[in-house]
Amino acid sequence: MADGMLVVLSAPSGCGKTTILKRVMSDLPGLVFSVSHTTRSPRAGEKNGRDYFFVDHHEFKALRDRQPSGFLEWAEVHGNLYGTGRRGVEEQRAAGLDVILDIDVQGAEQVRRAADPVTVFIAPPSLDELGRRLRGRGSEDEQTVALRLSNAKQEMQAAADYDYFIVNDVLDEAVESLRSILIAERLRRRRTLSGQSIDLEF
Ligand code: ADP
Ligand code: 5GP
Repeated sequence: MADGMLVVLSAPSGCGKTTILKRVMSDLPGLVFSVSHTTRSPRAGEKNGRDYFFVDHHEFKALRDRQPSGFLEWAEVHGNLYGTGRRGVEEQRAAGLDVILDIDVQGAEQVRRAADPVTVFIAPPSLDELGRRLRGRGSEDEQTVALRLSNAKQEMQAAADYDYFIVNDVLDEAVESLRSILIAERLRRRRTLSGQSIDLEF
């Protein structure tokens, strides 16, 4: 069985990435979400092992500094540490599942160097709208919202390095765009795996 593909999804915080991803995953079989490790505190409603593995700095560093590293990639984002566990990703891909990494632009760059991912950047329609969404979510205090907005400007600079660019203005359209990308990439990779010349017998 061929390995599943690795899909990297990045977006400024509050842009709607989680909302889009949940919708796409609910009706496209064969996709799994890679649950990251983080030192940030859980938000209301977040569950350990489902949204993140919530760990302290000591646990995070032990995983990171293992040889070989327990992380496929890791980064400090908005003052917290985040990392993608290497083993889980490898096992799921080996089982033929397409693995989605919801990671920041620094992590995306590390994955590009280590593997051959499909990379997708999701942008908000404007910085003002991003601010409204972040505040509307109500999960961060004003200082955290300000930090995430100022980081968003920097993150947007990396958008050109991604294979695909989606603007999340109308939610239904953004969901359909991501779904289409995943279906097309599956077909493209299947064709490449089956060899250069395609023998068709009619
Ligand atoms: P992220 O995962 O990128 O941090 P979320 O998925 O948590 O962002 O979305 C942030 C907020 O924006 C949520 O309250 C969500 O309901 C809202 N949202 C997402 N997409 C849209 C959209 N297209 N139009 C308006 N609001 C949206
Ligand atoms: P949040 O705290 O809003 O869940 O996530 C903040 C940022 O961290 C988002 O940009 C998200 O994509 C990123 N992030 C989440 N998990 C990881 C990870 O494992 N590695 C990296 N590099 N970034 C991550």
